[in-house]
Amino acid sequence: MPVCQHCGETWSYKESLKQVLKLRRKMTCEHCNEKQYSSQRSYWVSQMVALPAYLIIIPLMNIIFNVGFLVGFLTITPLLIFYILITPKLLTLSNKEEPLCR
Ligand SMILES: [Zn+2]
Repeated sequence: MPVCQHCGETWSYKESLKQVLKLRRKMTCEHCNEKQYSSQRSYWVSQMVALPAYLIIIPLMNIIFNVGFLVGFLTITPLLIFYILITPKLLTLSNKEEPLCR
């Protein structure tokens, strides 16, 4: 679970999920109210997966298994929901906003 880099408190699962679902890098610690940022690595891990999943996997399923967009969508969505539910556990925090690429 993410640990606030300012006050050292561990965020609860519920709080982390809430922050992840805002889809913003800037988060506020509920213990000390300081700004925290998702680290570069966890930002890519948590928020850059959903879109490619739809853009790549659905057409791929269409080609390989000859399934329509809707079937692909319905297959992937539960997987994505599962993925979103585990991202709070992968989240790591930083006091400063790290550049996304260097
Ligand atoms: Zn804090």
